[in-house]
Amino acid sequence: MNIGKTKAKVLVEKNTGVTFNDVAGVDEAKAELKEVVQFLKEPENFQRLGAHIPKGLLLVGPPGTGKTLIARAVAGEAQVPFFSISGSEFIEMFVGVGAARVRDLFEQAKSHAPAIIFIDELDALGRARGIGPIAGGHDEREQTLNQLLSEMDGFNPAVGVIILAATNRPEILDAALLRAGRFDRQVLVDRPDKVGREQILKVHIKKIVLAAEVELAKVAALTTGFTGADLANLVNEAAIMATRRKGEAVTMDDFVSAIERIVAGLEKRNRLIDPVEKNIVAHHEMGHALVAMTVHPDQVIQKVSVIPRGIGSLGYTIQRPSEDRYLLSKTELKKRLAILLAGRAAEELIFDEVTTGASDDLVKASNIVKAMVMQYGMADEIGLLSMDQQKNTFLDQQQYQSHDDYGPEMASKVTSAMSGFLDEAFAHATEILQSNKNLLKQCAAQLLTDETFNENKMEEIKSKLKKSVTLDTH
Ligand code: ADP
Repeated sequence: MNIGKTKAKVLVEKNTGVTFNDVAGVDEAKAELKEVVQFLKEPENFQRLGAHIPKGLLLVGPPGTGKTLIARAVAGEAQVPFFSISGSEFIEMFVGVGAARVRDLFEQAKSHAPAIIFIDELDALGRARGIGPIAGGHDEREQTLNQLLSEMDGFNPAVGVIILAATNRPEILDAALLRAGRFDRQVLVDRPDKVGREQILKVHIKKIVLAAEVELAKVAALTTGFTGADLANLVNEAAIMATRRKGEAVTMDDFVSAIERIVAGLEKRNRLIDPVEKNIVAHHEMGHALVAMTVHPDQVIQKVSVIPRGIGSLGYTIQRPSEDRYLLSKTELKKRLAILLAGRAAEELIFDEVTTGASDDLVKASNIVKAMVMQYGMADEIGLLSMDQQKNTFLDQQQYQSHDDYGPEMASKVTSAMSGFLDEAFAHATEILQSNKNLLKQCAAQLLTDETFNENKMEEIKSKLKKSVTLDTH
């Protein structure tokens, strides 16, 4: 048996040669990782002031957005060796080998500290335990994951080793991985907006001969939804086009034909938004945002965007609560419902038509009303009876026991109570948007050209909101 020779290889690069200048369009992620570089460069200085440095950072974002590139840039900037391994390579291993490989990885890195350990596709290795064909059993992946957890617990970051991992599916990760002292910091590496795309193009056109007439801002405007990898590919394709027609330099026409080719491929892979769809998404996202700002005037919205991303919904609206809350009131839950349903309300209000884009919102809203009625005793017609769901851990964590034991009459009461909350929230969202219809239209139109609104822009919009609508709190 050739156990030693498995597919999972620890790759070592003494110096990646990559710097932050090679990574563009993801400024927020870069800013967060600069601190890591500083720590690796002068660990003593960092600890002198008692600063806490995380052991593990999780880079979260769709494929091709530059997660690996950033990780290598961190190593390059700090001039430390880069040890990398990919989670997916562990899957076909003999029992025990994966765990040994993880141990080996950590030992090597520690003996070369300061160093970076990079685990690509962490989800392949770190999906929640107990889900899968051999649930409950000690399969290979589980052992490897346990080894990773114990390695992470067992070392002191003061030795100068930082673990970076990448995933595009954070939601399936085992909760143990995200606990304090493990991957307790998450860095979002998202698809770039228009300005970001232009910056990424600037990085990649250094390798080609570009005609003077090419305006990168225009190329950026034509490539909504492209990731860094798509843009790198685009520059290369455009250069191939130019070579084929024996041109002197890569022209705008070359870019346009290359975009057409790539878009055709992308549409199959990850729905690049067409203009009509983008317009709907802009109204949908602004709908969420306007309602959120109305019901939560004290909260800040960091970002609203029409750029599609791999995780979750089409566009996205990030809301930052001003404080953590553990107890949620009925009023608060009603507000959340109104925000969730506001996307669909906006679509209906403006286009008199609804799309499938709201399905994710509807799932979330349904989960909330289910809990309100069945768990928190918030529906008057049901009263305080809790029909809390038991998790069935043997089969699948997502699967719940059925509720046949309550009888058809109760079931119909529950359903009507849930629909009642949903209808009320939807009506509330519609009312808010109705009284701000012009603002909604204006903002959506501007969002279409700008693609992303930041916190300042959102505060400016907030000041224009009509706040006459109040929520029925009973
Ligand atoms: P991920 O790890 O997120 O799947 P990669 O880091 O492997 O993505 O990206 C693949 C390639 O795409 C990179 O080597 C680089 O050429 C290009 N690329 C991706 N994102 C960026 C970016 N933000 N800036 C510059 N180039 C990028």
